[in-house]
Amino acid sequence: MILLTPGPVQTRPETRAAAAQDIAPWDNDFRAVYARIRERVLALAGGDPAIHACLPLQGAGHFIVEATIRSLVPVGEAIIVPRNGAYSERITKLARAAGRVVHEWPVPDTRGITAEDVSAALAAHPDARFYAMVHHETGSGIVNRPEVAGPVLRAAGKRLILDSISCFGALPFSLADHPECDAVVFTSNKCIEGLPGIAFAIARTDALAPDRAGSWSLDLHDVWQHALRAGWGSFRFTPPVQALAAFDVALDLYDAEGGQPARLARYQANVREVYQGCLAMGLRPYLTQAEQGPVIVTVHQPNGFDLLAFVEALKARGVLISNFYTTEAPTIRIGCIGAITPEQCRAAMAAMAQVLAEMKAVA
Ligand SMILES: *Cc1c(COP(=O)(O)O)cnc(C)c1O
Repeated sequence: MILLTPGPVQTRPETRAAAAQDIAPWDNDFRAVYARIRERVLALAGGDPAIHACLPLQGAGHFIVEATIRSLVPVGEAIIVPRNGAYSERITKLARAAGRVVHEWPVPDTRGITAEDVSAALAAHPDARFYAMVHHETGSGIVNRPEVAGPVLRAAGKRLILDSISCFGALPFSLADHPECDAVVFTSNKCIEGLPGIAFAIARTDALAPDRAGSWSLDLHDVWQHALRAGWGSFRFTPPVQALAAFDVALDLYDAEGGQPARLARYQANVREVYQGCLAMGLRPYLTQAEQGPVIVTVHQPNGFDLLAFVEALKARGVLISNFYTTEAPTIRIGCIGAITPEQCRAAMAAMAQVLAEMKAVA
């Protein structure tokens, strides 16, 4: 079975094998692995150890997004969220539940934000000091470019919180180029091709403050302080040790492949296979080629389409895709990230075409 999903993704056997062991989190050997992972992640994000810290948290991506917003944005302060997809909507939800003021700035989910979108939102909401953006919107597959938003935010003295969960390690991004960015966040199970279980924020430590989060479990200031007290190889609470051991190997494989440029190139080749394959079988892409990012291809469902039956029939041919969609219109979503090759994507498109033809024959 291959997974064509935008996370958790297909992983390499070496990565999964690293998880097949029992590990004590406080063991000195493991502490060294964990401290090394934090250093590697900080470097990958372009962080400066004098300015930034790698602050991991157990759990899924939403936990780190919530922890970051709670830890950076004081209660009662306002955040602008450009809303062009399912994941930006989730930011608005968890930020409001945390008692932060949210100004949504609606943008169609078929295009990335422009500098004009950012300026207009800032002009409409001068009270907001923060701008929380989804880098790659996994709902539809568009990219909101920090290269576009960053200069506008910098000029206005605003702070950026960047959800890079579905593209970190594939799309280029460096904190060194984005002094306006207080934190970039991602998880183990997307473009680094690790197992699920651990999430990372790489944050400016001068943006953190004690007792701001309103949650001890989700307090990144406390994660930082704990590291200063007990060492960068220590955890406050039980970590997913197997996922971390696997992540260390996933980082080795990432480096061996050639890092970010190589990973982006493979994912882009995957996207080309899927996008062209879908066009060839008469499916209509949700995005224009210009807006299409390197992570997921979404295509409109044909009239009278039965998504669940389609997913099960495709699974019987060895390919697993999402059995839900998160776009405004009904779509089929095909992930192009993970340890998969363009050849596998081409074979998967052939399987999809067969299933579509069979379903048409039955209908
Ligand atoms: C995957 C993803 C998340 C986090 O999802 P979890 O299920 O909580 O891990 C957040 N934002 C984006 C853009 C994502 O793609």
